[in-house]
Amino acid sequence: MKEDFYDILGVSKNASASEIKKAYRKKAIEYHPDKNPGDAKAEEMFKKAAEAYEVLSDPDKKARYDQFGHQAFEGGGFGGGGMNMEDIFSQFGDIFGSAFGGGGFGGFSGFGGGQRRVKGSNLRIRVKLTLEEIANGVDKKIKVKRKKVAQGTTYKTCGTCNGQGQVTRIQNTILGRMQTASTCSTCGGTGQVIDKKPANADAHGMLLTEETVSIKIPAGVVDGMQLKVSGKGNEAPGGNGIAGDLLVAIEEVPHQTLQREGDNLHYDLYISFSDAALGTSKEIDTVTGKVRIKIEPGTQSGKILRLRKKGVPSVNGYGTGDLLVHVNVWTPKSLSKEQKEFFESMRSDDHFQPNPEKEDKSFFEKVKDMFS
Ligand SMILES: [Zn+2]
Repeated sequence: MKEDFYDILGVSKNASASEIKKAYRKKAIEYHPDKNPGDAKAEEMFKKAAEAYEVLSDPDKKARYDQFGHQAFEGGGFGGGGMNMEDIFSQFGDIFGSAFGGGGFGGFSGFGGGQRRVKGSNLRIRVKLTLEEIANGVDKKIKVKRKKVAQGTTYKTCGTCNGQGQVTRIQNTILGRMQTASTCSTCGGTGQVIDKKPANADAHGMLLTEETVSIKIPAGVVDGMQLKVSGKGNEAPGGNGIAGDLLVAIEEVPHQTLQREGDNLHYDLYISFSDAALGTSKEIDTVTGKVRIKIEPGTQSGKILRLRKKGVPSVNGYGTGDLLVHVNVWTPKSLSKEQKEFFESMRSDDHFQPNPEKEDKSFFEKVKDMFS
């Protein structure tokens, strides 16, 4: 079970954005790796706090978290879970100012030793999906404009930082007097500068190129969710960087006849007096095509027929929702002379008098059943 993000930061569920920011700042200072060298527990807390802040500081993610909890971000490679140090430090520009920021590109990996690699920036796109695509899962091929290192671009080691990508200096910060590394302004942190580049490339030797990216969308995604395709964002300039990620926001196109409510679907079926009285069969829409359902003789208006597992699969793999067919008996708005005579003659007939039985549940009982 994952810990509650609000608990991790020690704030209440209705904390304001500035309270959340303040709480995170406190935790980040308390558990900062520079203050707790070699303390694995502190590092763990540091990461947890960063992950909680990443979600709670983003109004969209916060809303999803408040609605769905951790499920909103788990499974299927969604963003939010498992931040690495690079992600954490790249968000520090916002919290502590530029001393901790990630520089002009996506940020650095390998804080606290090892080779620094520049990460390209992330790209964001929206993908519109039909309910059928959502229910069945789909592979989407999307054209994306990515910055890539142009063919023919060559780099040489940056003279300012000797290829380190950063310049270290002693600085007074809110964490006390400490050695901070700032991005080399000559090379922008890549450790390399352009040697040769083709005429059509930009100042970093990059070229905007259109590429078709294949995105596997799992069944059951929800409008507003974000999928991450690693390495399909912009490439990093320089020969040794890693590409950013492609962040895919899901947009659900409303269905003509099916209404989604979580994993369940609803369908409004209209039948005539005669069909309700005599029974019939009707074709209805489902996410896997049309199916024919039976209407029993004597069906009441308002009856709900439940088609098990004809809804949307849970994105976390916990089963599949149902399709609930709401039966509405259509009352004609005008009648011919003969029809009027027929209904007049039936008006006092015992068989036309309402006589609800126990199994004809009230509206409230039916609603209760739907959610049981
Ligand atoms: Zn440099």
